Amino acid sequence: MNKVVYMDYAATTFVKPEVLEEMIPYYTEKFGNPSSFYAVSRETKMAIDKARGNVAKTLNCDLNEIYFTGGGSEADNWAIKGIAYAHRNKGNHIITSKIEHHAVLHTCQYLEKQGFEVTYLDVDSEGFINIDDLKNAITDRTILVSIMFANNEIGTIQPIKEIGAICKEKKIFFHTDAVQAIGNVKIDVKEMNIDLLSLAGHKIYAPKGVGALYIRKGIRIDNLIHGGSQERARRAGTENIPGIVGLGKAIEIANNNLESHAEKMTFLRDKLIDGLLKVPYTRLNGPKGDKRLPGNVNVCFEFIEGESILLSLDFEGVCASSGSACTSGSLDPSHVLLAIGLPHEIAHGSLRLTLGENSTEEEVDYVLEVIPPIIKRLREMSPLWEDFLKKGDK
Ligand SMILES: *Cc1c(COP(=O)(O)O)cnc(C)c1O
Repeated sequence: MNKVVYMDYAATTFVKPEVLEEMIPYYTEKFGNPSSFYAVSRETKMAIDKARGNVAKTLNCDLNEIYFTGGGSEADNWAIKGIAYAHRNKGNHIITSKIEHHAVLHTCQYLEKQGFEVTYLDVDSEGFINIDDLKNAITDRTILVSIMFANNEIGTIQPIKEIGAICKEKKIFFHTDAVQAIGNVKIDVKEMNIDLLSLAGHKIYAPKGVGALYIRKGIRIDNLIHGGSQERARRAGTENIPGIVGLGKAIEIANNNLESHAEKMTFLRDKLIDGLLKVPYTRLNGPKGDKRLPGNVNVCFEFIEGESILLSLDFEGVCASSGSACTSGSLDPSHVLLAIGLPHEIAHGSLRLTLGENSTEEEVDYVLEVIPPIIKRLREMSPLWEDFLKKGDK
């Protein structure tokens, strides 16, 4: 295969041509500032509203409950800090999980320094939180529960509706980071009792640097970005119109094709998983079946390092990720893999392959052809493997 095989869609996606096409006029002729009063600016204001409508429709909420942000991380920061600061008179306790994205985890750690208390729920060996643990963690000081919809590393889809019902009953705000779930899983914020939800453009074929936060009507929340009165005076800054237009178009396409996309991804995912598990001493991280994100594959090859697998795959034209990619520069294995109970040495041998729009069965077959010899070669150079063989001889 001469071309590059991209299997890192959970890290970012390309911008779909239809999405880019909608965006381009807003860089050139339709450049007006939506806060101005002439016709060119009304055009941009209408474009924002159209995009807002598309996001609202996808989530089943009102258009006035959607606020555009500068990406998923900003939406997570805003939801958590905004609720924490606005409701600290009621309580200072927040509940989250150990496998959240760093945009949530590091925000919670920051708030701990500001006097908030945070409970980081454990997860089981497949990455699910335990509902009883959640109930037991709630105190009369708890103001916010933040649990991600679907995990970016191991694909675990949490029981969001159940979590939402508990939070509703206890009158605690429920935020979910749905950056990975959007476009892959049906989301209904009403039915699922979600109060705040984060999403990002660049994981669903819109550009980087644009996202949105859904805030249920009537919720009091502090601003994160102060300044002008954009986004109904809740998120200041001249709007990223092309980005917002792109997000609106991309989410519309994703929502219209949700089932067929998920079906295709699930087929390729399961073929990839089955093939990879034929390599000896390989384990799947995260659940099997419909509680796993359709395009997510994450495995550990024992006795070797994820980074060396990535280098070898790169040499074969395959773009993939290892669990520790987000913290590259540090030698710590992924916090998610440690949280599901993997020992350090096994967590180090992880490989994440994530599928998307342009993935094909041919690519899956190619990856399944190149990986076994790579693993074999790396193990032959591995002192851990040598030790293991020696022990086996005894
Ligand atoms: C990518 C991602 C984010 C961060 O979104 P950005 O737009 O890159 O800031 C947050 N949460 C999850 C689960 C993600 O996958």
